[in-house]
Amino acid sequence: MTIDNDALVKEMTTWRRDLHAHPELGFEEERTSALVAKKLREFGLDEVVEGVGGTGVVGTLRRGSGNRAIALRADMDALRITEQGDRAYRSQSPGVMHACGHDGHTAMLLGAAKTLAEEGGFDGTVRFIFQPAEEWGKGALAMLDDGLMQRFPFDEIYGIHNMPGLPIGHFETRPGPIMSAEDNFEIVLKGVGGHAARPHAGNEVLVAACALVTNLQTIVSRRLSPADIGVVSVTELITDGTRNALPGLARILGDARSFRPQVSAEIEKQMRIIAEGTAITHNVTAEVNYTREFVPLVNDAMLVDEAFAAAGDIFTAEAVAVAAEPMTGSEDFARFLTHVPGCFVFLGNGVDSAPLHNPIYDFNDAGLIQGANFHVGIIRRRLSAR
Ligand SMILES: [Zn+2]
Ligand SMILES: [Zn+2]
Repeated sequence: MTIDNDALVKEMTTWRRDLHAHPELGFEEERTSALVAKKLREFGLDEVVEGVGGTGVVGTLRRGSGNRAIALRADMDALRITEQGDRAYRSQSPGVMHACGHDGHTAMLLGAAKTLAEEGGFDGTVRFIFQPAEEWGKGALAMLDDGLMQRFPFDEIYGIHNMPGLPIGHFETRPGPIMSAEDNFEIVLKGVGGHAARPHAGNEVLVAACALVTNLQTIVSRRLSPADIGVVSVTELITDGTRNALPGLARILGDARSFRPQVSAEIEKQMRIIAEGTAITHNVTAEVNYTREFVPLVNDAMLVDEAFAAAGDIFTAEAVAVAAEPMTGSEDFARFLTHVPGCFVFLGNGVDSAPLHNPIYDFNDAGLIQGANFHVGIIRRRLSAR
């Protein structure tokens, strides 16, 4: 049932390290997507289409007469981080690095495509989706806007992310919300700056901005229900003041996380009320710009059971667990789940792994075969050839 063979492990490791050495930012994955498409064609897929949503690639593999289709998704983009360390396959692109393991996700999905193309063992259609620009939260949407669901329809979708801190060979997921929405905000305060010695002569904005940063802390502590999870983080406060001049302009920037659209809407509503009220108190004006970058990732309960069943054939019983709580990180995979049900799972990257987005992070190649096995296993389970 599983494909634990040395040759495939070696091949996936070679692909992964090659991708690691040549990282590309979101929507610039030219070399990566060309390599993916070339490999998929070599494996003999029925159809390989490039340029879906910019640099995305979709491979299609059909077997038997089943009319159901299931999608497996990997992300291909890297981050604007300068890699540290001296591993032989370190990034050749200055300032760009595979610090989230998307090199590993791409290699393991290629391994699954090769195995399913060679061995079959399913009845229906598999869509292999290699998406661009996950980190920017724009790649899945770009593929969907390019007609992904119409051109390459599928009934369910699965995705994997490696997880530092989770031991190698361990598998976790959970039903319902598993990763959060990410909203960004910018609040611009305008007043009248002036001489630091004569604050009464204008309406400077710094005291108002400081009050506003404090007042925003009451959104989570006093405005949201204690049963709801939400985070409001002010991350920047920028003014046009200088040592002896009071500012007339302040920008407050930040990031909000939540797991339900109603909570995201409430955070925005309360932010507008508090910004306006604080501005009036300080005789300045406030303008709130609120954008939604990532939607919450909500797993389908029945397909989570199916994912656990598939994992049970690959991982030891004690290595398969329900993730204790949802994460406040965000994932572009959530966009696909607004169209079809699916399940997103976590695969251990080892207890010694550096955190994601860290300059010394590296995907652990020991996870490649497990990821490929999970992809193959869930296809054979959900498109059972009987
Ligand atoms: Zn990331
Ligand atoms: Zn990632």
